[in-house]
Amino acid sequence: MRNMKTDIMSLSVKELEQYLEKLGEKRFRARQIFSWIYKGADSFEDMTNLSKELKSKLSENAALKKLKILSIQNSKKDGTRKYLFALADGNSIESVFMKYKFGNTVCISSQAGCLMGCSFCASAINGLQRDLTAGEMSDQVISVEKDAGEKVSNIVVMGTGEPFDNYENLSKFLSNIHEKDGLNIGMRSITVSTCGLIPKMMAFAKEFPQVNLAVSLHAPNDTLRNKIMPISKKYPLEELLAASRKHIAETGRRLTFEYALVKGVNDSERNAKELAERLRGINCHVNLIPLNQVIETGLHGTERKETERFLEVLQRHGIQVTVRRELGGDIDAACGQLRLKNVIN
Ligand code: SAH
Repeated sequence: MRNMKTDIMSLSVKELEQYLEKLGEKRFRARQIFSWIYKGADSFEDMTNLSKELKSKLSENAALKKLKILSIQNSKKDGTRKYLFALADGNSIESVFMKYKFGNTVCISSQAGCLMGCSFCASAINGLQRDLTAGEMSDQVISVEKDAGEKVSNIVVMGTGEPFDNYENLSKFLSNIHEKDGLNIGMRSITVSTCGLIPKMMAFAKEFPQVNLAVSLHAPNDTLRNKIMPISKKYPLEELLAASRKHIAETGRRLTFEYALVKGVNDSERNAKELAERLRGINCHVNLIPLNQVIETGLHGTERKETERFLEVLQRHGIQVTVRRELGGDIDAACGQLRLKNVIN
């Protein structure tokens, strides 16, 4: 049998403690190692407060699977940076660094590719390759922070993949980056976006009540939603809205609905009215995203005037709504533009 090395970057502090005990080491070493990982150590050699003996024991039994930066694109418009990372198995993923007034934000991917098949999204084009490990999610933040030389205060899980289709690893990742010796990121500074996997939304409300939840709606009825989001056939809109209400009731927090405006598909005044009716009485905020161009889909974003009109209809009906400021559009780093890249040319 192949000697499988322990993926040390995916362990929680507790698991790391157990692991070190198994290696015949003291438990307190766990926090030291954990904190080196989140400080961006590239190897066990870098962990200078560990004994030589422990370092070699770790190299023998464990792997520090770092992501490799393949390329960085800088937006000329707004300081956004898109990172292309290689995973150890040759797959690749993208992450985005954004500067907002409230702090630096990293948008991370949760899977290599995506299974959900939304018709307008670049991430769906080549299907799902595999789930990311908790360590691979953390390392996107660690590596970006190190490369940018700036502290990251906010995380959005809105890159490639459906986070709730990789729930276990997502949940481990969130707990790890929240750790004081990890990245010390507040739960309220994290947002997870889902296309609406209802059972996981309910679990999430219990496990991570402080993390912001965003739900990708994109249509005010099932007929339309079924056409652009296959997941809608499994979890119809009425059930999704009921689950959203439940999430709000359980967490006591407002929820965000994302609505990508696709020209001639879901952006009419009628669509806006129907959406407003559907959302009436829900403590939510609607984020309108004029569709970002993904050449293969043949779909186009709603123009400015029509976007304004859609916004006004919602406002008139008392819905809290904003148009998302697009960052990184010139480097294909905007919502729905992240994709699996072929590393081998
Ligand atoms: N799978 C999750 C995470 C993706 S988050 C989800 O569906 O929510 C990315 C957000 O961008 C989602 O709301 C997604 O629907 C939206 N999106 C996808 N393609 C887009 C595009 N071309 N233009 C604008 N938004 C898009």
